[in-house]
Amino acid sequence: MPRKLFVTTALPYANAAFHIGHMMEYIQADTWVRAQRMKGTAVTFVCADDAHGAPIMIAAEKAGLSPQQFVAGIAAGRAQYLDGFHIGFDNWHSTDGPENHRLAQDIYRRLRDNDLIDVRTIEQFYDPDKGMFLPDRFIKGQCPKCGAADQYGDNCENCGAVYAPTDLIAPYSALSGATPVLRTSEHFFFKLSDPRCVAYLEQWTQDGKLQPEVANKVKEWFSRDADGRAALNDWDISRDAPYFGIEIPDAPGKYFYVWLDAPIGYLAALENLFAKRLGNAAEAITACDAYLADPELEQVHFIGKDIVTFHTLFWPATLHFSGRKVPDHIHVHGFLTVNHDKMSKSRGTGISPLKYLELGMNPEWLRYYLAAKLNARVEDIDFNTEDFIARVNSDLVGKYINIASRAAGFLSKRFGGRLSADLGVEGRLLLDGLRAQRATIEALYETREFGKAIRETMALADRVNAFVDLHKPWELAKHAGADAAKLAALHDVCSVCIEAFRLLTIYLKPVLPALAAQVEAFLQVAPLQFADADRALGHHTIASYQHLMQRVDAAKLEALLAPPETPDLAAAGSGTGLPALPGGTALAAEIGIDEFNAVDLRIARIVNAETVDGSSKLLRLTLDVGEGSDPQGQPILRNVFSGIRSAYAPAQLIGKLTVMVANLAPRKMKFGLSEGMVLAASHADDTAQPGLFVLEPGPGAQPGMRVR
Ligand SMILES: [Zn+2]
Repeated sequence: MPRKLFVTTALPYANAAFHIGHMMEYIQADTWVRAQRMKGTAVTFVCADDAHGAPIMIAAEKAGLSPQQFVAGIAAGRAQYLDGFHIGFDNWHSTDGPENHRLAQDIYRRLRDNDLIDVRTIEQFYDPDKGMFLPDRFIKGQCPKCGAADQYGDNCENCGAVYAPTDLIAPYSALSGATPVLRTSEHFFFKLSDPRCVAYLEQWTQDGKLQPEVANKVKEWFSRDADGRAALNDWDISRDAPYFGIEIPDAPGKYFYVWLDAPIGYLAALENLFAKRLGNAAEAITACDAYLADPELEQVHFIGKDIVTFHTLFWPATLHFSGRKVPDHIHVHGFLTVNHDKMSKSRGTGISPLKYLELGMNPEWLRYYLAAKLNARVEDIDFNTEDFIARVNSDLVGKYINIASRAAGFLSKRFGGRLSADLGVEGRLLLDGLRAQRATIEALYETREFGKAIRETMALADRVNAFVDLHKPWELAKHAGADAAKLAALHDVCSVCIEAFRLLTIYLKPVLPALAAQVEAFLQVAPLQFADADRALGHHTIASYQHLMQRVDAAKLEALLAPPETPDLAAAGSGTGLPALPGGTALAAEIGIDEFNAVDLRIARIVNAETVDGSSKLLRLTLDVGEGSDPQGQPILRNVFSGIRSAYAPAQLIGKLTVMVANLAPRKMKFGLSEGMVLAASHADDTAQPGLFVLEPGPGAQPGMRVR
């Protein structure tokens, strides 16, 4: 009986095009699925757009579209990425499809009948300027756990903490900038803290479905307090109108929040695939239920490390307690950085996958490069420009593709493309060695150790190239006209190379599906499976060789990574009648609002200022940033060293208000710890234009107010 798998990748939010992080996840899952299929496993591989929620409603409103039109536009743009990078989903659907509406409501009813839904009056942030309750992602503030600034209302990207928006320190509305006010509303909760859920999940999360490091992390969430209660919180699953989503049954004006909507899209995408195949929605429900009910079927989710909490607690619990199949494996990956620039899922920048394709770069270079870096652990991986060029040009093209190009010409010219079946003792030994690695490489794909699978395969390519260098077909060819033994040797050596190339192609096919199809046409063989490694080509005729893959052009890679064009301000003013640089310095590179918001500027009162013994430049400032008092009733003040002694006497500053960077990491200086930075203006060249000016807010500003 072949193995049966239902495989998904995480649902992308339908408010933007894919970024490179999405492509990494799809390439990882697609490679795994292709390796499974090459073993004869029956795989259904689906994904869908996460189409609902207030952020999409707001984006659609801004664009002058209905939410449905807006997400349809996003959906229409998906294929160019998926096809472009050879991602072979069986279906791409949307959580706004009718299947998802029905499934979400059905799952909810079963959970409610199972006494796992609670209705509570909660206080929620309301934007008084916009006249609506604010989605978590539109409330920002300081993380209550680690203190990181500018974190979203539902979780911290810095420390991974999950919390309610009301836990944020100094919250503000990302829609209007207003300070949100608390209003009451009835919300629906899934009772994750119910002892049945806790007991079920405690077992489910520790029985081998998760990577060891994930299981260990999850275990911490079950640590019990003094009363023996595990620290699982109930999950808020509702939002109030106006909202774009699925209405909660028997609760007018209430909609399912993401948790009881988006992941159900996995099932909806599957059911929709059955509907497309059967041409009948009602039959699809039955067929899909039967498919999922098969005890042999394994349900596998590929996800990023940012949504582990949700997929290991809430998702299995809602499935189990609504009488449905639960996941068998959750495969978690890390993030992708580009030349060590941190790029998270929600702030994706770096490499544009579409630009990559538009520049005519080979999508399989990226597949190969990412596969070479991926492993089974939850590690971030880095896209490094030089490493990319080296791996593609030296390994993929230099070691693997070259084997075919070195042998194919002789076979066509001298032997009419016919392979020798003899191959010689050394040739047979080499090929036996390559075949012997099949089980190892298959197992490495199975365990998602793609980097190791590629290393093993390249080590085999090295052996083949050493064989070629030893037997020198180009030398044999010189004498083959007059020497029948040399001619036979040439035939054998080149035939060994082609057979070796076929074996290496089998081992790389999960990563390089389009290239493998070209190789299959060149070799005139049926689509290659892993089992084909055990068979020899024997007497066989190949087609003439067409060049299979170019090397990476470094200039294109440079173009890919170049930021969008902006006027060159640094060059401006340096000569000929161009405007002078403002303040003596070119403007810094453009930043987004998120980057600006990451700098937490606050009004501070200068409580005290004094000179610093041993420094002619610094003043020691004591600042009140509105942080209140400590438990002893002492005001919480900051100590900041500021290089403004040349411009100010301490007495000029005491009592003044100014602006400080309040979230700058404390810096240990010779004279003590500096806990922030006071803002002052100056010309870049202080000899040409002297003066140093501490910023002062207009009247009415109070210590602690945010500057934005
Ligand atoms: Zn945090």
